[in-house]
Amino acid sequence: MEGGQHFCFLAEWYESSMSWACCIDGCGETFEGVEETIIHQAQAHEQHECAICGTVVPDGYLAIRHAFENHTRAEFVRAYDASAEEVRKREEVKRKVDYEADFKQVADQLNAPSP
Ligand SMILES: [Zn+2]
Ligand SMILES: [Zn+2]
Repeated sequence: MEGGQHFCFLAEWYESSMSWACCIDGCGETFEGVEETIIHQAQAHEQHECAICGTVVPDGYLAIRHAFENHTRAEFVRAYDASAEEVRKREEVKRKVDYEADFKQVADQLNAPSP
């Protein structure tokens, strides 16, 4: 059932092809670097309105980070009707991205004026 509340904001790492894939709305675009993935998610997709507090954040990884750093897991599950498995998967992706990403590069790109 489509509850109208999309909470995909996910990227996936494919070990086999050593690439990241954007999973927002079945996008499927792949990237070599996690930074490119985050930038793509923030620029190519509509922004996400947090279902818990209403803050508008870039979709994708940045939305996951907002949710997990500002809200509890229980709030997330309730607001997005997420299963424990869905939460766990996002926590895993977030951990991997936190570890790998060069956030300075991401911030520089996102603050750059559009051409
Ligand atoms: Zn995408
Ligand atoms: Zn929020």
